Amino acid sequence: MKRINTPAEWNPLWLSHLQKNERIGFVPTMGALHQGHLDLVQKSVQNTDTTLVSIFVNPTQFNNPEDFKKYPNTLEDDLEKLESAGVDYVFVPEVNTIYPEKAELKLDFGDVERVLEGEFRPGHFNGVGVVVSKLFHFIRPHVAFFGQKDLQQVAIIKRLVRDLSFPIELEIVPTRREEDGLAMSSRNLRLNPEERIQALILIQSLEKAKRELFDGKSWFQVQKEIERDFQQVPLAKLDYFELVHPDTFESQTEFNPEKKSSICVAAYLGEIRLIDNLPIIP
Ligand code: AMP
Repeated sequence: MKRINTPAEWNPLWLSHLQKNERIGFVPTMGALHQGHLDLVQKSVQNTDTTLVSIFVNPTQFNNPEDFKKYPNTLEDDLEKLESAGVDYVFVPEVNTIYPEKAELKLDFGDVERVLEGEFRPGHFNGVGVVVSKLFHFIRPHVAFFGQKDLQQVAIIKRLVRDLSFPIELEIVPTRREEDGLAMSSRNLRLNPEERIQALILIQSLEKAKRELFDGKSWFQVQKEIERDFQQVPLAKLDYFELVHPDTFESQTEFNPEKKSSICVAAYLGEIRLIDNLPIIP
């Protein structure tokens, strides 16, 4: 596996792959890699000719400076995992390589960014959109891999690719969970043992809500019940629990088994904010 720090190092390599008619797969990450990331990597290794993984903790997508400062960094470990997974290149840029100057551009993704993560983390999706655009321009992959764990991010990236005509295919990979159901996340590393146990409320509430919708309860009833459940978990604080269309993020007040829908949840466990989602009608 070759480590690259700048786009200039990548350009001749990119050209040589192109000349051999090879397909390049790209997996953007912020490091602190777990099996969820490695599922994306594995899919790229299997389905493309060469795989590049980026590790870049993007400062502009953090609305909370503490969260950025404390974001886990396990670079040596990450590099070993990627090497064993058969990755060809890892791109580890410095902040000033990506932002030689502050990016002034503001992207507006429409209604999809005004709810849930967009509402609770102002500026987050603008930061994601700008950094992913930069990475797409630098890497110029044929296909890029993203996780369903960040469902709203997937909707945002699909719009970015569509509206800016990036000639890049997107592959979406299902959420990888721990054995007890907690969605894998780099931020799980920051949970203390008590928070880690209580974090199960996220997946438990999603599964309970799904069951109850299929049992015929109204979304209003289900949502109220889940809000009460969260109040029983002392270290958890709910940001939102919403039933949405997974592409438009339009909120659904009534469950309609004919219509695509997902439940999305975000909650703090102590100081750590976690998100998860469950497709109800895929
Ligand atoms: P991050 O490093 O958190 O920016 O994530 C990098 C990529 O990995 C994103 O496309 C995420 O959606 C994806 N990802 C993160 N956690 C998981 C998971 N548990 N299962 C599947 N994909 C994931």
